[in-house]
Amino acid sequence: MTKNKSEYLIKRNKNEYEVVIGLEVHAQVLSESKLFSDSPTKFGAEPNTQVSLVDAAFPGMLPVINEFCIKQAVKTGIGLNAKINKRSIFDRKNYFYADLPQGYQISQYKNPIVGEGSVILDLPSGEKVVGIERLHLEQDAGKSIHDIDPQNTLVDLNRSGVALMEIVSKPDLRSLDEVNAYVKKLRSIMRYLGTCDGNMQEGSLRADVNVSVRKKGDKKLGTRCEIKNVNSIKFMQMAIEYEANRQVDLIEDGGSVDQETRLFDTKKNQTRSMRSKEDAHDYRYFPDPDLLPLEFDDQFISNLKKEIPELPDVKKKRFIEKFNLSPYEANILVSDIETSKYFEEVIKNSDVKISTNWITGELFALLNEKNLEITQSPISSKNLSKLINLIKDGTISGKIAKSVFEIMADGDKDPQKIIDEKGLKQESDPKELEKLIDRVIKDNEGKVKEYKSGKDKLFGFFVGQAMKVSGGKANPQLVNEILKKKLK
Ligand code: ADP
Ligand code: MG
Repeated sequence: MTKNKSEYLIKRNKNEYEVVIGLEVHAQVLSESKLFSDSPTKFGAEPNTQVSLVDAAFPGMLPVINEFCIKQAVKTGIGLNAKINKRSIFDRKNYFYADLPQGYQISQYKNPIVGEGSVILDLPSGEKVVGIERLHLEQDAGKSIHDIDPQNTLVDLNRSGVALMEIVSKPDLRSLDEVNAYVKKLRSIMRYLGTCDGNMQEGSLRADVNVSVRKKGDKKLGTRCEIKNVNSIKFMQMAIEYEANRQVDLIEDGGSVDQETRLFDTKKNQTRSMRSKEDAHDYRYFPDPDLLPLEFDDQFISNLKKEIPELPDVKKKRFIEKFNLSPYEANILVSDIETSKYFEEVIKNSDVKISTNWITGELFALLNEKNLEITQSPISSKNLSKLINLIKDGTISGKIAKSVFEIMADGDKDPQKIIDEKGLKQESDPKELEKLIDRVIKDNEGKVKEYKSGKDKLFGFFVGQAMKVSGGKANPQLVNEILKKKLK
């Protein structure tokens, strides 16, 4: 088995199989109320406290479209470079389940709100374009809870009716890394847009994962299995790995893959059959008679376009061109909108190169260690910018800066104040440095002799001594220059 950067190949006997993946991502629309009712959508509320009569499907209740959710979906479509359909239709998808009181889900089928688009993946090997098939709006169902009562299944309808965007990719993904990059990129775009918070722990982003395999070189796609409702990137990758290998084994044993819906058991790390794949006609889709078709004019769309911020791909390009960053650095800085804001605040008054290194190095390490988001950074962009200027103008060395940074991390102090209080200012006065170096030379006469007789390597020793005597405060460049002169 090899995992090449652009494709995931599985070898069995003499055959080589390519893995093909398509994702249906369910992204919860960031909205205070539900798609067809005014109930709140807040996460973590007491069960069944955010349920209106519409959400509970009381007889005679009528859905009313939440315009804000529609706008969010259109904005997301724009962010996916997709065609916005000026006319779309809400359909009923009929099925029975205890947590679906209506007996149908209001979704979109043949006429979704958003059509074909594309997403660019930022891979170590370069960029790759993944096709988007469509984006449609639908309601979430409630939640069945099986592990509270030993005899009964309980139902929480808080989620019932929450707006979801189902974003369907083309079967363009070829490896676990591409799946990772795809989900992260979708999440990044939606966070920039403010249309989904992308919080996977809270279930705001989950995916049905479609997997098939085919012999390398085959044109025709293999039969796919769909793994339902996977809620982390890690689990998606584990499920794909298990499922692809299962399919290859089946084919190698002379069998074939049945199209079916499967579940990923995260404890056993395997997928198992849930049901044979339903066809669309099993759901008896038909237009919901309670809802008129959605129709927009050009004005509606162009107004929303005006609200779209600079998105990660454009920002990345700008960072590379304007600030001379590498694509790698630009990717890191734009992937999260708050990080990019922080970066731009720091470099407003500071050197770009040093800022980039300090943000992606020291600051990220600090946030990681303390498990904080950049918005919770203990060091403000203003103070980091000050620190960087103090490095740049030679007031402190990079090494001293690290100790100052550590103190700043404990309460966002002004770095200049820390330097004054602790007397950390770099010694750059040549006269003072000469005095110091003379002392070092005097204290190490033996070593000086050795050096002069040809042991060049000792130069570093003298630099080290000078730095030590100065308590790390001597300007290393000047120390080098003066030492060279004195030891000639
Ligand atoms: P369904 O409603 O049956 O799940 P959708 O059109 O909503 O169908 O989604 C199909 C998903 O399966 C898409 O993401 C598509 O890219 C993916 N897909 C289709 N054929 C294959 C295949 N042969 N192998 C892997 N993925 C596939
Ligand atoms: Mg599906």
